[in-house]
Amino acid sequence: MAKLDFIKEELERLKREGLYVHIRVIQSAVDAWFVVDGKRVLNLTSNNYLGFANHPVLKEYAKKYIDKYGIGPAAVRSISGTMDIHIELEKKLAQFKGMESTVLFQSGFTANLATIPAIVGRGDYIFSDELNHASIIDGCRLSRATIVRYKHLDLNDLEEKLKEHRDKPGKKLIVTDGVFSMDGDIAPLPELADLAEKYDAILMVDDAHGEGVLGKGGRGIVDHFGLHGRVDIEVGTLSKAFGIVGGFVSGSRELTEYLKQKGRPFLFSSANTVADVAAGLAAVEIMTRSDELVQRLWDNARYFQGKMREMGFDLGKTQTPITPVIVGDEKKAQEFSRKLYENDIFVQAIVYPTVPLGTARLRVMLSAAHSKDDLDFALEKFEKIGKELGVI
Ligand SMILES: *Cc1c(COP(=O)(O)O)cnc(C)c1O
Repeated sequence: MAKLDFIKEELERLKREGLYVHIRVIQSAVDAWFVVDGKRVLNLTSNNYLGFANHPVLKEYAKKYIDKYGIGPAAVRSISGTMDIHIELEKKLAQFKGMESTVLFQSGFTANLATIPAIVGRGDYIFSDELNHASIIDGCRLSRATIVRYKHLDLNDLEEKLKEHRDKPGKKLIVTDGVFSMDGDIAPLPELADLAEKYDAILMVDDAHGEGVLGKGGRGIVDHFGLHGRVDIEVGTLSKAFGIVGGFVSGSRELTEYLKQKGRPFLFSSANTVADVAAGLAAVEIMTRSDELVQRLWDNARYFQGKMREMGFDLGKTQTPITPVIVGDEKKAQEFSRKLYENDIFVQAIVYPTVPLGTARLRVMLSAAHSKDDLDFALEKFEKIGKELGVI
């Protein structure tokens, strides 16, 4: 038994230092309101940007397709797990996004683990924003390429590092989150594309929080900046705005063909489930038909953020519906979150080490599912508790 003692010690350390993650249990569908640990609360925490997680049309498609195709493919894509509906969703996603081709993965996480090691390896160089998502970091490590971290969004720092490595042999890859999930800020993709062209580097963006949010009708960050053809690899997820579970990579036809040959999660982990693919098809159809949900999401974001700023809250540098409410002190942020929960609102406090010490915050995630009444309800509670705690 002694050989596993380190586990107990580590768990105790996490609890002692306030780093232990307490896992809440949801007992209803995820929607504008949901039931958390037995209490019905306003949901300001899910990545359910467009309200698809409990959308009637997505549910109807999932049920209909399960009747025809069963539950799961019971194989990896490359053996006998590729159904016609996988191909159809890949085609529809590519069409929607205005990309040449798209390949599905089981999640955004596995899309990064599949792509980065397939593109670069030992002797190559990866230039990675210091605040990139964990799945990018893990994909970079798996690749065995040399990782060069540049300061968050800092084009000068990146260019200096590209210059330093200019004459070294090996491929160069620049990789960045599209939208950074803790601050809601956006990568300067046009300038990154310039640098990638100048230094002959491959450019990859992980648009997990931009799919369904940025660009015309939610077509993503490449569309947002009008950079079609100038970004080599765009990773997306179905697990946020699309309300399902899944990931994908968009780019040239050769890129997706190559990832189907070389992407290890594609080759060695089973294909996406029928329900996810069916709901994905419904989501793309809805988004192709109308940008109404995306507009509502942004209207809600603008309304809520405008009112919060008027009250004197510091929302950092967000440019998206991700709304960090900066509190500063770690304990105060946690107390704020607890008081909101007592007042029927669920908002996660995000503290060190997820964000730098002294920048503890509440992270409010807005959604097209919220009504104006929902937002007014939240604003009233934020004002009351914000004053009580001396945040405003
Ligand atoms: C959430 C997220 C992922 C993971 O996506 P999943 O589909 O949930 O695995 C990957 N990258 C970024 C930047 C994310 O925000």
